[in-house]
Formats: sequence, structure tokens, C-alpha cells
Amino acid sequence: MSSLPAPRCPAHPDAKLVPAVANAKDQFFTVTEERWSYQRCSDCRALILDPRPGPEAIGPYYRGYYTDQFLTRLERQTQGGKRAFGSGRVRALGFLRGLDRIGFGSPVGKRLLDVGAGLGAFARYARDLGRMVVRGVDFSAKTAEFARRIHGLDIDVNELRTQNYPEGSFDLVTAWHYLEHVYDPLAELKEMRRVVAPGGIVMVETPTPSLATKIFGPSWMYLMPPTHLYHYRPQTLVTLFEQAGLEVVRVRRPWFPGEWAGSLLFTLGVRNFTEVLFGGGTSLRERAIRAAFFGMMPLDVPWGALVALIFGGSNLRVYARRPADG
Ligand SMILES: [Zn+2]
Repeated sequence: MSSLPAPRCPAHPDAKLVPAVANAKDQFFTVTEERWSYQRCSDCRALILDPRPGPEAIGPYYRGYYTDQFLTRLERQTQGGKRAFGSGRVRALGFLRGLDRIGFGSPVGKRLLDVGAGLGAFARYARDLGRMVVRGVDFSAKTAEFARRIHGLDIDVNELRTQNYPEGSFDLVTAWHYLEHVYDPLAELKEMRRVVAPGGIVMVETPTPSLATKIFGPSWMYLMPPTHLYHYRPQTLVTLFEQAGLEVVRVRRPWFPGEWAGSLLFTLGVRNFTEVLFGGGTSLRERAIRAAFFGMMPLDVPWGALVALIFGGSNLRVYARRPADG
């Protein structure tokens, strides 16, 4: 483990940390057998991975994300005419609806930067459905190449803060499931504020602890150690946005199917979940896990929706505005 200073809550660096989740494993990708722990900020109750690999050591833990087999399969499905990027479409429609709710006006022709663009699914639909001028940035050269080739997107490679985009060069900045991966979220938000024009909008979505986190603890499906360094609460993000000079205008707690079924399988010790679910393996074990997961959907969906309605969903979506005079 690196010799970095002990992790702190990014919004409350002086707050005491208390043990929250122990003995968690990487069951999503199973690239490591190590056990991980999260501490809880005594102020905002955000979860913080501790101890954690430093930036110089985290790379190998991402081996399970976007494997060559996964990308090849996705590309084959796309060529077969299958709609393989439905989640990007759902995100784009949700984002456009959110803009409408906050009175942003027409998105047509607006300049959007998607930070952590991944395979480009959201960026593609933001461009096609919102008729915006879209640019992406992602650390991974491999996913950037995919997004350029499959969706015809403009994607810059490397970290946001190394791009040196001119001040105010975008009207909208989005970051889907990005902030939980970065070491210094406040610095990231400050850079997003700098590159968005005065009056422009920054939108972030990230997982957030919910009832399922309480019930499943280390087997909560979205915990995803060690690549998820933080799990923010609404108050954490509101504080960070304010510290970055952004005015929060809308906070939502969306929910997605699969969390309860997946967390139950994690509790039962499922390994390499992503590959089992989407890899098309035909062993008895793989088929049984797939059948269990998809078989639970008729319960998972109404239950997840009900819980989200009462307690809030496991995702946190925040829209914030750069002040028009700032
Ligand atoms: Zn805190």
C-alpha cells in the first residue's frame, strides 16, 4: 500500500473518521483477492476507502473494466443492429429532462463536455437527441478510440486537468460515475467550474449509500473497491460544489434495476460478476448465476422502486450552475 497520507473526507478534512464497512472484495471484476475497508465521515457520513492504493498503484485494479473481450462483443452486437448503448440513451433523456426542469432552455447547439466519457454512449445520445456539440475526455486511450470509431465522437485522452481547455469553453459539463474514482474531487469540480461558461451547468452522477448499503454492507453491489475511492452523500456533494464556487440547483436520487438481486448474489459469494453476466459463458455455474439474477428482476424492480421512493435511490445526481457573474 502506498505511503500517502491517510484518506480524509474531501468535504470535511478535519472530521473524525469511524469504521463503516470491512472485509469487502472486488466481486464485480475479481481482479484481486484483497480485502478492503471504508471509513465513514462523522460529519456527512460519506464512505472513504481506507487504506487505499495511491494513484501510482491503482492502474492494475482497473484491468476488469472494458476488457478486449467485452469491447469486441459490444462491437459485434452493435454491428448486428442491436441497441447496445441503451444506458447512454436513458442517461441522455434523463439529463435533457433535468435541464428542462431547471429552466436551462433549449440545448440545441450548446457545447457539452462529458468528463470520464468511457465508451461514449451518453455523449452519442446527448449529441443525437439534444443536438448539442459534444466533446468527451477520458483517461483511457482504449475507450476513447472505441468512442471515436463507433460513435464518431471527439474524445481527448488523459485527465481533465491536463487538457487546459480555455476558461468558459463549454455551456454544459457532465460527469457520469466519475467522481467516485478520483482522488481529489474538489480540484475536479473547480476545473469543471472553470471550463463551463458563467451561467452554465455542471451535472454529476455518482453512487450514494442507501438502504441496500446498510443491509448488504461489504456485499453492496455498488461498493466496488478499490476503484470506488469515495461514496458521497447528498450533503458531501452540496458542500463540495459550494467550495468549488458552483450553486446547486437540483439534487435527485435516481435508482436502477439490479442492485438488490446483484447485492444478494454478492452476499452468496458470486465472483467476476460482470463477466458471468455479460460474458456469455456456458458453464453450469455461469448459467445458474445468470438465471438467478434475471429471474429475480420481477421482484427486484418493484422492490427497488419502492425503496427508492421511501429512502432515496443509490445514485446521486446533482445539477449546479456557475454563477452568471462569476
Ligand atoms: Zn464529510
